[in-house]
Amino acid sequence: MSQPVGEFELIERHFLRPVAAGARIGLGIGDDCALIDGGADWQWAVTSDMLLEGVHFLTGVDPESLGHKSLAVNLSDLAACGALPRCFFLALALPASDEPWVKAFTRGLFALADRHACQLAGGDTTRSRGGLVVSITALGEVPRGGAILRSGARPGDDLWVSGHLGDGALGLACRRGEISLPSTSAAPALERLDRPQPRVSLGRALIGVATSAIDVSDGLAGDLGHILRRSGVGARLEWERIPRSSALQQLDADAQQRYVFRGGDDYELLFSAPADRSDAVLAAGQAAGVPLSRIGALHAGQGLTLIADGRAVDMPLRAFDHFGL
Ligand code: ADP
Ligand code: MG
Repeated sequence: MSQPVGEFELIERHFLRPVAAGARIGLGIGDDCALIDGGADWQWAVTSDMLLEGVHFLTGVDPESLGHKSLAVNLSDLAACGALPRCFFLALALPASDEPWVKAFTRGLFALADRHACQLAGGDTTRSRGGLVVSITALGEVPRGGAILRSGARPGDDLWVSGHLGDGALGLACRRGEISLPSTSAAPALERLDRPQPRVSLGRALIGVATSAIDVSDGLAGDLGHILRRSGVGARLEWERIPRSSALQQLDADAQQRYVFRGGDDYELLFSAPADRSDAVLAAGQAAGVPLSRIGALHAGQGLTLIADGRAVDMPLRAFDHFGL
């Protein structure tokens, strides 16, 4: 048998191909969205994300929450590029034609779609002989050349993050019964896991301010790693500055770091901006109604250093990998 390789190596070795001249693709594989020619002064931002039973959600999940989350994770990728959601395609593989289930699923799906004026424009529906699969492709609009990419960070930029980190992993641990918290702490974490709010207005407000961005879907270490590698910079983070909910702060420091750096499902925006643009960054956060925290800075070089309790530790930039490599 051939040597198993990780998710990102598979993509790089087998799917990444040069974009042909004249293909009307401004940016292909490798960022949160691809950029496709649109009008004279705008481009399509396109992203595709799949949710699988037993991998991304547990069997018996609340269908309304799943409808919300399936679209939310896609809108979060549009948000990371600063795109305005326009429409989406929905491919569903269902183990059974269960109408009450589909009705509840679409209630959650369309409540979020309507909030963002994002229209369902097509899709595919089939029977699954395995588990449930939801795959969505979402299209948004960005000003031509204005999309925020993973590759634009510069040495000296500050690093910012929206909201709180670690609650998605905390919610998952509660759901799996791995930890037990009082319901006043567990409920908001479960809400974050089940019904993430894509930071669409923030992403748009950051166009022209942020130099790079990514949505935190696979843990801070891995997603920051994507920015660092694609921008060719290193980062220094201060643990005390990383925003964490009061529920997360009840856990010991090791667990908090594990959930923040190696957890997932936070769907906050992580972005860089020049150090002299912090007023513009804060104004963008205020306009979008999202709290922002400055968690560190970027430098020439590579790697991630975490300052915690006055000590500097090197952290691996490993992302969550579906093949666990
Ligand atoms: P995200 O976490 O933002 O959804 P991923 O880490 O899943 O992004 O994907 C990284 C990049 O690889 C993206 O640009 C995505 O479009 C691309 N990609 C993933 N799988 C495939 C595939 N099978 N074929 C082509 N491109 C892919
Ligand atoms: Mg993403």
